[in-house]
Amino acid sequence: MRAPLKPLDEALAELLAQALPLAGDDTVDCFDADGRVLRADAVSPLQVPPQDNSAMDGYAVRSAECTHAELPVSQRIPAGAVGQPLAVGTVARIFTGAPVPEGADAIVMQEDCEVLEDGRVRIKARPEAGQWIRRSGEDIRRGATVIAAGTRLSPAELGLAASIGLASLRVARKPRVALFSTGDELVMPGTVAPEQMPPGSIYNSNRFFLRALLQRMGCEVTDFGIVPDRREATVDALREAARAHDLILTSGGVSVGEEDHVKPAVQALGQLDLWQIAVKPGKPFAYGHVNREGEGFAHFIGLPGNPVSSFVTFLLLVRPFVLRLQGVQQALPRSVEVRADFHWPRGDKRREFLRVRYNEGGGLELFRNQSSGVLTSAAWGDGVVDNPPGQAIAPGDRVRFIAFSELLS
Ligand code: AMP
Ligand code: MG
Repeated sequence: MRAPLKPLDEALAELLAQALPLAGDDTVDCFDADGRVLRADAVSPLQVPPQDNSAMDGYAVRSAECTHAELPVSQRIPAGAVGQPLAVGTVARIFTGAPVPEGADAIVMQEDCEVLEDGRVRIKARPEAGQWIRRSGEDIRRGATVIAAGTRLSPAELGLAASIGLASLRVARKPRVALFSTGDELVMPGTVAPEQMPPGSIYNSNRFFLRALLQRMGCEVTDFGIVPDRREATVDALREAARAHDLILTSGGVSVGEEDHVKPAVQALGQLDLWQIAVKPGKPFAYGHVNREGEGFAHFIGLPGNPVSSFVTFLLLVRPFVLRLQGVQQALPRSVEVRADFHWPRGDKRREFLRVRYNEGGGLELFRNQSSGVLTSAAWGDGVVDNPPGQAIAPGDRVRFIAFSELLS
């Protein structure tokens, strides 16, 4: 009897339980930290902005003095300068970002002022106290955690780190991943011209997207190419890969009953669990360990060979795994509810991830061919609908959508 299929959430939980954060970290310049994972909280040693400052080009005033006022200008404060206390009965010319002088309690923007011939300024509308003043610490208070450990840094966070004076950041070390492809039918593009491809052969496409996906997820990839077609050579290659890598990732050769060298080779060097996951595309999946000589092990993950299965299982399982190795807290993608503008008359027994794309009306269209071999669907799509087992979809239904922008970043 066939073993029952493993629910995706169970597979994910088991996998993530193995993904302990890697030891070691790097200190990198803020300029080079995009996409890296912060190791320790970034705590602000100062207030941002450092002092109360003007949000406008205009005049710093005492708001109570501004009834029918025509007031002389006693000083000029450009950004970068510090003014004198504001003399009673006067205003200060001030520019965006310049510190508000002591005594002033509002800024009047220059559009609401008229400069008279004698140089005095007529305030046309009485200001509210506090208006157009950016308060010290309104963005960041001294002592506040500005970026939490476990955050994957994005451009805004690099600016934020710089705004509290940090020039470099302590980040998680990049996971080192060894990538293998399996399958005697595979040919590398560039080695055989399309018109000369032998019957039964196909180009190795998984290798390209898997390498790019790993790199996007912050990994350092060593691409070992196609697994050697002898058992001994496969064992040697895996043993060698385990020595210097945290994870060995393969595609193909994990289907039931498939003849290939990877499964027995991993079993010889460590341990392997073959899972049948209740997900479509992407049912076959393998997780295990390849022991290192001496001590320790490299994680092993075997993805299915069908390109869309490989792509989708990477996003659902490998992505959170490699993010967790870097200590990322939010490793799972967010989904949103979106209107389906398509029919899916019969839900599958397995949880399905349908490739869909937004139409101009903000609804989702379904790619015409959802077969796990049709990689066009992944390039065409804006993301996937996470459809529960047995669930039919009719136009107008609300469905769970996970955007590729969420999954690929
Ligand atoms: P497998 O999981 O090895 O049984 O492969 C399932 C299907 O995916 C077969 O049609 C393979 O030819 C195809 N396949 C496996 N590996 C790759 C690859 N690297 N690139 C493109 N197709 C592949
Ligand atoms: Mg194969």
